[in-house]
Amino acid sequence: MNLPIYLDNNSTTPVDPRVLDAMLPYFTQKFGNAASRNHSFGWIAEEAVDQARAQVASLIAADPSEIVFTSGATEAVNLAIKGIFESYRSKGNHIITCVTEHKAVLDSCKQIEKIGGRVTYLPVDANGLVDIDALQDAITPETILIAIMYANNETGVIQPVREIGRLAAENNTLFFSDATQAVGKIPVNVTDDGIHLLAMSAHKLYGPKGIGALYVRRRNPRVVTSALIHGGGHERGMRSGTLNVPGIVGLGKAAEICATEMHHEQRRALSLRDRLENNLRKIDHSLVSSADAPRLPHVLNIAFQHVDGQALMMSMKNIAVSSGSACTSASLEPSYVLTAMKLSNELAHSAIRIGIGRFNTEEEIEFATLQITNAVNHLRTLSPAWLMAQDENT
Ligand SMILES: *Cc1c(COP(=O)(O)O)cnc(C)c1O
Repeated sequence: MNLPIYLDNNSTTPVDPRVLDAMLPYFTQKFGNAASRNHSFGWIAEEAVDQARAQVASLIAADPSEIVFTSGATEAVNLAIKGIFESYRSKGNHIITCVTEHKAVLDSCKQIEKIGGRVTYLPVDANGLVDIDALQDAITPETILIAIMYANNETGVIQPVREIGRLAAENNTLFFSDATQAVGKIPVNVTDDGIHLLAMSAHKLYGPKGIGALYVRRRNPRVVTSALIHGGGHERGMRSGTLNVPGIVGLGKAAEICATEMHHEQRRALSLRDRLENNLRKIDHSLVSSADAPRLPHVLNIAFQHVDGQALMMSMKNIAVSSGSACTSASLEPSYVLTAMKLSNELAHSAIRIGIGRFNTEEEIEFATLQITNAVNHLRTLSPAWLMAQDENT
């Protein structure tokens, strides 16, 4: 077993060696520009891009012509929100989203507000889910877009996507889902889910960094999104710029592997996650986030009362996990996702997020369980608040 152990697969994943192998020829021998129509170098690159487009489309049950390659999910999110706002402005100026979205969505919405848009930020319940009735109530004739993520990056909670899709269709508005955490991990079907636009990223599914895609529906209804980046008219005019062929090949191969191995991988991740979760739940006064809602099989977000989050992270040098705090410059703020779920600041600070990945082993999970349990127990012996709480109980 190699230390430290990587258990932060929601932040990024390692590139699968099979993905790297598929990419390598496109840096050196097959380096053509996919837009070069006059020679075989260009045709070979274009062929590879076509294949990747089909692989990506197949993973979400879309048509290859509905895939727009971007530099990642952040750009795909920006393209969806800002592009739709621009192209549907004559229909209305209202967007509905949710307080626990990724910053890419929230900051894009903030920008929309600066240029004359109106944005409703729906709250979430204690499990982190949006309320369908509240969503229905928020829809007005001015609503052009509902932007709700598929699964949350901190808790793994899966939103009622199909119901949201149905509501969007009934109200003749568009539904965009940031599915960066869900795609490749659980089945995602844009038709069955009623999704009109969907963002994804290669580096969250064992592909390379710097490449992602936006799905844009072409039929029932045909969706048009204005470009953010103008130039040679690549990607049907929605995203200009010479295509990142090796990256695109990598995303395609990563998508293909996810599609083939999803069933097996999901079961394996779930069994490791449940083992870890059941063991960590034995620690007194621990709280699993989104425990009573559908969650991604590989994600565990757990908080420990009377444990300082920062100290907890510091004392677990051999495992790489994410904390419930976002270190912003000097200040240490608790996660806005967890506080939106009504976790106290103190509990949110003590939360850790574990993202189990394709390459984690049973042995590693056992080791992490011990590390976390020992660290929590040790820190509590040093915590006056914990000792006081213990005294009150006896
Ligand atoms: C990682 C992530 C993003 C950003 O993706 P990049 O490809 O790194 O830009 C957006 N949304 C969610 C939910 C994510 O997990």
